[in-house]
Amino acid sequence: MNNWITKVNLSPLSSKNMPPAPQLTHDIDLNLNIALGEQYKSETQKARVISEAWTEKNAFCFLCGGALLRGQNNARVLDFTCMKCKNGFELKSTRGNFSSKLPDGAFSSMMNRLTDKSSPDFFFLTYDVKSSCVTNFFAVPTYFIDSTIVEKRKPLGHNARRAGWVGCNIIMKRIPEAGKVFYVRNREIQERSKVIETWGRTTFLRGETSLEARGWALEIIRIIESLNVPEFTLQRIYGFEAQLKQKFPRNNFIRAKIRQQLQVLRDAGFIEFVGRGHYASIFYGSVQRGR
Ligand SMILES: [Zn+2]
Repeated sequence: MNNWITKVNLSPLSSKNMPPAPQLTHDIDLNLNIALGEQYKSETQKARVISEAWTEKNAFCFLCGGALLRGQNNARVLDFTCMKCKNGFELKSTRGNFSSKLPDGAFSSMMNRLTDKSSPDFFFLTYDVKSSCVTNFFAVPTYFIDSTIVEKRKPLGHNARRAGWVGCNIIMKRIPEAGKVFYVRNREIQERSKVIETWGRTTFLRGETSLEARGWALEIIRIIESLNVPEFTLQRIYGFEAQLKQKFPRNNFIRAKIRQQLQVLRDAGFIEFVGRGHYASIFYGSVQRGR
């Protein structure tokens, strides 16, 4: 039986005349220890315990490849810290697939988190109970979340224990494919070096704490992804002018902004300029895989 163990060998090829390369082989095991959840009644708790244990054993820091340390103090938001670069990750997990809206904590703290450079990033994990296997594991950098991804929930009613408290939902489909960095996609394991490289491509937005500026880049990415074509023209993106004006009513130079954002995406290696107002999209592949 296939037990979903794959060895990803990161050692460079060594010739017979050279000393053997250091052992950098890393094992990833998609099997989950479902029994860990047995002592818990709530499905949320079960999912949390099982997926935390898996992540601690199998995941790594997508920024630098460092090992992860599990949070010790039950801090809800910071589940894992990289031992090398200290980047934090919050884990969200579910059995089956993520529904379109993922409930999260307080709306106000999420909004503050989006503009704080030191905020942890997100890990998302889905698993299949029947086969006790991880099906998807991906990370989304917090700087790839804009205000349109976070939905404000209605305040809790008078009878609730925390009456008046306002939570939020993460709208999963608003997260651009370009911002999802997969380690496991449909049970297929990606090479670590590829994962780190893909993460690296997202970092052009890392320092951007203005939600409006970030929103522009993410909105243009969503538009390009929605075209679902390998190549597109500047004119085609201009076709979204009215839609963009609605989203960014304060901007009176939408076309100039579109050109500027395409340049930003080109510099970041997301698109290529192929001449005469034509662009090639690297989103095309990731959008296809995401469908
Ligand atoms: Zn790290």
